[in-house]
Amino acid sequence: MRIWAVANQKGGVGKTTTTLCLARNLAADARVLVVDLDPHASMTRAFGVPRQPPPIGTHEVFVAQTPSLDGLSRTTAIERLRLVAAQPALATLERRSATQPGLGMALQRALAGVADLYDHVLLDCPPTLSLLMVNALAAADCLVVPTQTDPLALHGLADMLRTADMVERSRKRSLVRAVLPTLYDARTGSGQRTLEHLYAGYEGLVWSGAIPLDTRLRDARSIAGNAPLSGRGADAYADALAWLHTRIAAPAATPAEAV
Ligand code: ADP
Ligand code: MG
Repeated sequence: MRIWAVANQKGGVGKTTTTLCLARNLAADARVLVVDLDPHASMTRAFGVPRQPPPIGTHEVFVAQTPSLDGLSRTTAIERLRLVAAQPALATLERRSATQPGLGMALQRALAGVADLYDHVLLDCPPTLSLLMVNALAAADCLVVPTQTDPLALHGLADMLRTADMVERSRKRSLVRAVLPTLYDARTGSGQRTLEHLYAGYEGLVWSGAIPLDTRLRDARSIAGNAPLSGRGADAYADALAWLHTRIAAPAATPAEAV
């Protein structure tokens, strides 16, 4: 089972869209579990799970005694793809459980219980360095950082990679990092310049393509439906996934200090 964390310490950079598109591509021929770790629950809403009453899902990983992640998951419109839904209560989890020891590894422990049931687990992270994000980074084999091709977004990327370094040092197991340029508008000079900056500054770490702005990707609910994905954006995600597979297969080929 391979565990992917999709994270960036910045909102609106395409994390949820990236998680959904990668998950759909993987689910074409593998068993996939998506875990929504964001209290805003955009992934959960995309799959049409109502907010009220709060669904069973991610929160139980942190508050139940021996949570079975498979028991917390639900089917979706997409074959072979199951979802662990996010609840609003995740937003206050940190405050309520500050003194509880071992909570940073709760997700990793829960995932160990489903290792035989899934081929891939994708963790859609919140945009803050929180207990939920730390859990995702502690559990992941690969960190995918969607980065908007906008000059301001580069700060979020640098912060995220520093956090990844910190987590990797403390867990003593390597974490493959991969940067995906997203929301790319080839018509703007600032988009092009930011992309060049990304390629030059993060060589080896960043995919040599970019996910273009594509109106067909704007509605997460349609990506989470069972109609086939199509269009420039969807094609780009398929290419990005092929690259991610090669990166994971040969992580040592990457300069670790590309920052
Ligand atoms: P995050 O999870 O980082 O907050 P989202 O994936 O929710 O980001 O994306 C932010 C917004 O941009 C959403 O409305 C989403 O539908 C839209 N979006 C994401 N990627 C694309 C794209 N390639 N083209 C057009 N719209 C996109
Ligand atoms: Mg999101």
